[in-house]
Parts: sequence; C-alpha cells; structure tokens
Amino acid sequence: MISVSEAQEILLKFSKKGPTERVSFENCLNRMLAENIHADRDAPPFDRVAMDGIAIQSDQLQIRQQFVIEDIQAAGQEQKSLNNPENCLEVMTGAVLPAHTDCVIPYEKLIIKNGVARLISTDHKAFQNTHKKGIDAKKGEQLLPSGTWIHPGVKGVLATTGHTEVEVVQLPKVMICSTGDELVPIQNTPLLHQIRRSNVYMLQAALKDLNIEAHTTHLPDNKEELNASIGKLLEEYDLLLFSGAVSKGKYDFLPDVFEELGIQIHIHGVKQKPGKPFLFGTKAEKSIFGFPGNPSSTLVCFHLYFKCWFNHYLGTSPKSNYAYLNKEVTFKKPLTNHLLIKSSFEDGKILAEPVINSGSGDLVHLALADGFLSLPPEKDTFKKGQLFPITYFHQTDL
Ligand code: AMP
Ligand code: MG
Repeated sequence: MISVSEAQEILLKFSKKGPTERVSFENCLNRMLAENIHADRDAPPFDRVAMDGIAIQSDQLQIRQQFVIEDIQAAGQEQKSLNNPENCLEVMTGAVLPAHTDCVIPYEKLIIKNGVARLISTDHKAFQNTHKKGIDAKKGEQLLPSGTWIHPGVKGVLATTGHTEVEVVQLPKVMICSTGDELVPIQNTPLLHQIRRSNVYMLQAALKDLNIEAHTTHLPDNKEELNASIGKLLEEYDLLLFSGAVSKGKYDFLPDVFEELGIQIHIHGVKQKPGKPFLFGTKAEKSIFGFPGNPSSTLVCFHLYFKCWFNHYLGTSPKSNYAYLNKEVTFKKPLTNHLLIKSSFEDGKILAEPVINSGSGDLVHLALADGFLSLPPEKDTFKKGQLFPITYFHQTDL
C-alpha cells in the first residue's frame, strides 16, 4: 500500500491544467483568473483629493493661517483652478485636486466662519492628503497575474479596469454518486436497517465551497446496474465522485466495475486512517474518485486528494498550514492518522484539540471538527505541543 504523499504525487501526475473560458464579470467570483490584467489608465487617474477639507498652495503656509474660500471642488466635477493663491477651495474626497493647489487640510484641522477657513495647527506640508496620479500603477502596468484567485478585492480591480468579461479556468462537470442499498433520500423516514444518504450532500457542499456546482445521484449495490449507469455517467461528466463500495465487502463492486468499464485504477488503498480503501482512476480525460463510505473517510479523502487534484487543475499549489497538538494522543498502527480536531488561536499559535469520536462512521462528532491533523506513521505517541500539518474542512480561499 502507498503512503499519503505517494498517493498525492500520483494524483498530481494525472491532474492536467484545466481549460479556460470567458465568463461575465458578475460570475467570476471565486474563480481562477486565466489572463493577466493590466491598468487601462493611471491609478489614480488624476491627482486626487484624499480628505474632505480645503486645498491651498503650500507656499502660503509660511505667510498665513486664514484662507478665503473661493469655491467648492466636488467629486465628479471637472478640475477647477484656484484663482488667488492667498485663497483656498473647499474640496471633497475623490475630487480632482484643483489647479494651483498642492495641499489638502482636512475639516478636522480647520475652523470655518463667514466664508473664511482658519487653520487650528501649523503642522501641514505640501502634497499631504493628496493621492498622486499614477502612484499606485501606471497605465499598461500588470495589476494581476494569471493564476490569481478572484476574491472580492480582485473583483474591485477587475471592475475599476472595466473588465465586463474575464478569462478564468473552466470548472469541471462533476457527478457525485452515493452507493449502498441501506441509503434512503433525506426526506424519507428510514426503516431501522436504513440510513439517510448524507455523504453526497457533504461532498456537494464541500464542492460548493470551491464554487463547483455538482449533480448528485444514487446507485444501488448491483453490479449490472452500476456498470450501465457509470458507463453513461462517464460520457456526460468530467469527474465522478463516489462514496462507498470501494472496500473489501461482498457488495463493494466499484473496483471490479471500474475495471470492466476500462477505467485505469492508479490508487486503491492508502496507508492512512480513516480512508484506507481510497481509490482513484482515470479513463481518457475523465477522473474517478472513490471515497470510502464512512463519513469521516469521505470528507478527509476529499480534502486530501480531490483538493490536491483540483489545485493542480487550477494551476495553484495549496498553502501548507501547521498547528500544535493540544493533547497527547497514541496511535499504534503504522499508518498516517488523520486526527479530527477543533482549532483555536492562543499566543500567536494555532492549537488543535482532538475531537473525541467513535470512529470514521461517527458523523455527529465529524460536524464538531474544523479539520484534521495528519500524524505521521513513524511514531505512535504524539506529544502535546508538537507541530503537525493541519487541513481545514472549510476554507474558501485557495
Ligand atoms: P462502504 O464504504 O460502502 O462499505 O460504506 C461504509 C459505511 O459508510 C457504511 O456504514 C455505509 O452505510 C456508510 N455510508 C456509505 N455511503 C453513505 C452515505 N452516502 N451517507 C452516509 N453514510 C454512508
Ligand atoms: Mg456500501
């Protein structure tokens, strides 16, 4: 059996960079930018007033403390001009700095009476509270490289540069399939021997965090039906995510069915707990993930393997995070142990408190965890205060 890092290396080998597409500005949030974005004009495009107050000629500061207000320069008005250097213009944030002025004094440092502004203090200098044309970027300068994750701040830059459309990495078409004759739809009242099919919704939600809208379906524990249905799904979808039916049970038909359908299995079994029977295969351009059915196994494998595949597809590499184990744990098996944890922040450190649970079938305690620490197989006692890689279940920025 292979290790977690060997499995991730295999996944990277089979994940190709995704094709790109043009989407409207409205639909580009939380997508991966696939073009370089340049400034269409200087930023800011004019010498900009940065505070509400008055604009004066700074030379006058040596001579006078009172300025007659000539006019108002509001935001959105064409540039006005100070006619008499001994005077001032009232100016508003976002306005063009009036001609023949170079210093803005905010209202907080003024007393205005009968059309005259008097300075309260003398600590003013040229160019204060002004935002110089082109200081942030010159026209034509690259503002965002291809491969930038589009978060709200990036959307602001796309908006200010007039991008009504933008090139992004296409999202894969994904189908999530639950398997298992014990599963019923969530609106049903299960019989004693049945449970509701929760994994597909967990996976659908995890994909939604990545902005992928996935479809879901259910397949029975029947080899012929699995064969026929998966054959069709392979034609329609880029990615198939399965939960259940990849272990050693009598009804775990997926590995056989995959082989019958010509899917090449690259990973089946990883030295880890939970998620030991994890499976990954490909058929031409299609990728198939088989997550073991226990809820923790499904979610942990999604984060370890699907996200590894997807980051590579987007052309990015995930950030590594580490946290301090906050309680000693022992784990005797020579496997990587993905320990469910609740994280907190103390004295500048991320602390990871183990979430006690009854095993990988315990969905109740899975919901209380923020993520997991991956404890390496080489040791069996892990001391409080040691640092380990942490994976969060819910993290929207890549
Ligand atoms: P399997 O991997 O098919 O052997 O399933 C392992 C365990 O996970 C069994 O107890 C299943 O009932 C459970 N399981 C499988 N699929 C789901 C699902 N979609 N939702 C909740 N539990 C599931
Ligand atoms: Mg099953």
